[in-house]
Amino acid sequence: MPVAKCRGPGCESTRLIEAHIIPRCFAVYIGGNNPAGGNVQLTQHGSANAWPPLGEYDTGILCAACDQRLGKLDGYFYDVCRRFERDAIRVGRHYEMASVDCDRVARFFWSLIWRASITDRATFAEVDLAEHGEAVRDLVFGDISLAAEKRFQVAIERFESEHVDVSRIYSPPRPGELGGFVGFGFMFVGFRVFAKVNEQPFPGPASSVLNGRSMLCVPIRRFEGTPEFEATAEMMITAIEQRRAAGAT
Ligand SMILES: [Zn+2]
Repeated sequence: MPVAKCRGPGCESTRLIEAHIIPRCFAVYIGGNNPAGGNVQLTQHGSANAWPPLGEYDTGILCAACDQRLGKLDGYFYDVCRRFERDAIRVGRHYEMASVDCDRVARFFWSLIWRASITDRATFAEVDLAEHGEAVRDLVFGDISLAAEKRFQVAIERFESEHVDVSRIYSPPRPGELGGFVGFGFMFVGFRVFAKVNEQPFPGPASSVLNGRSMLCVPIRRFEGTPEFEATAEMMITAIEQRRAAGAT
């Protein structure tokens, strides 16, 4: 078997570490298999009723140095999330938060998709960046402005719910489509994320696009009524019934 090499750009290291696909800080934040949260698995064909594992790592993809570079993105978005709960201002049907390097947030989301695409872990089997793999890797590890980046745009929304603590919601990235755009969608700590790979940019000055912005501007989407909510509700009911059944025996 050939020795695995780090997948970081230009890196030749064969001293690979346990690289987490979903960063550990968020795994703790989301809280694992907790039916009080909304940790949910979605597939292209609707919902699969399973709690996706959060602690999965791969020992064949990254060296410590490259993993640490991604760790800086993880840390940045983690801080943004903590700050969002405290500082985001609601303006009508969206939230605003100043002084956010939205390029770094977009890089973070792409880094999750990239990690999911290079691992062999079954949870992420559907995530394949194919011909975009190298370009996404270079975008993730690079530091140029994404303002002019029309292909790899990331749009986000914030879920709002009466029933679920949306900040604990997570689903693994999946290939998907949004209004004719092809890309990857997932839910992450209260945000609904769509990262596209079309050449065609999102139309108009869409406020939900992260690329090139210094103000986080996030449209609000009611969680109830979305397919994601249906999946989450189903799973919670199943979990409660299973607990009841276990208690009854
Ligand atoms: Zn490396």
